[in-house]
Amino acid sequence: MAGTRVFRAPGRVNLIGEHTDYNEGFVMPAAINFATTVTVTPRADRRLSVFSENCGDAIEFDLDDPEPRSASHWSDYVRGVAVVLEQSGRRLNGANLRIRGEVPIGSGLSSSAALEVASAHALLANSGHSVPPVALAKLCQRAENEFVGMRCGIMDQLISSCGQADRALMLDCRSLEYTVLPLPAEVRLVICNTMVKHELANTEYNARRAECEAGVHHFAQSRPNVRALRDVTLAELERSRTDLSEVIYRRCRHVISENARVLEAAAALEASDLEAFGQLMNKSHHSLRDDYEVSCKELDLMVELAGQVEGVYGARMTGGGFGGCTISLVKAENVEGFKRRVASGYEQVTGLAPEIYVCTAAQGAAEVI
Ligand code: ADP
Ligand code: MG
Repeated sequence: MAGTRVFRAPGRVNLIGEHTDYNEGFVMPAAINFATTVTVTPRADRRLSVFSENCGDAIEFDLDDPEPRSASHWSDYVRGVAVVLEQSGRRLNGANLRIRGEVPIGSGLSSSAALEVASAHALLANSGHSVPPVALAKLCQRAENEFVGMRCGIMDQLISSCGQADRALMLDCRSLEYTVLPLPAEVRLVICNTMVKHELANTEYNARRAECEAGVHHFAQSRPNVRALRDVTLAELERSRTDLSEVIYRRCRHVISENARVLEAAAALEASDLEAFGQLMNKSHHSLRDDYEVSCKELDLMVELAGQVEGVYGARMTGGGFGGCTISLVKAENVEGFKRRVASGYEQVTGLAPEIYVCTAAQGAAEVI
């Protein structure tokens, strides 16, 4: 049909830098070669009709609705983007949107950001607007925060929007500045889904945030310019060890050491030193398991199994924890052996067949020509 255009935006994986985003620290995501595609067809009216092939249902709404409300439905992600774009002063034309997602939904690979970013591209192009990639990511984050009601950081939308093929980004969550880092072509980002999601995740996430705030509060008493754990060094933490409870001390140690690991990992990629990078991934996992206590036996098992396979540089849990996925950095030639050994080892112990996604670092959102 005349005027039909297609846009795609990728999911992502975080290579290192976990639970650092809300401490104004560093993260290192890569966009992956699993994307969400939005096909947009113009309409003469000011209505949006949205259909998801994954969910099988369509929903229609009016851009002139004076009080758009979330409906606790998948379409909130698209409607939220439309609402935020209009609030930002960009008037949108009506459209029919057809969504096809290949990013596993709800597995921590950010199908939500992929949907938002692809929808934003489609809606903007259909209305003759264009928005630079970082600004577009911020608008999508706002849609998820304010319309969907999910308190997420900027990482997912930013990497979906700004990712580059064969590159990871080191993102400073305070300034939103990022550095582009090379990932050698012979390496694969292998994501293993434990297929479990423990109930604890939300309450423990909120508890960790409060524990970090307690740490900040302690340091800010003597140094008022401390705004986040980002502003505290490991040496300062050690000096305060006896003033902090054991738990707060360990939570702070994870965040502060993880920030340092991300910076070291960036230097390792700059130097094409995958061995060093892999060691940092392993250390990140240990810190998340022992100091931050957000792992679980399934994640630990998956990481342990990965570590036994030839051609694996390193492995760690990725995402919030208590289930979800691990990320392993694997030599391309060893990927088949990895899949066989990790899948059978995991299934033997847990009785669960893991899903394994073999990824490369992909380009951020773009029109499909
Ligand atoms: P993640 O981003 O890790 O995949 P989230 O819970 O943040 O998990 O987002 C998943 C939600 O995003 C889904 O429950 C659904 O509402 C929406 N979503 C993502 N992809 C699609 C899709 N292709 N079609 C419809 N809804 C989608
Ligand atoms: Mg999400």
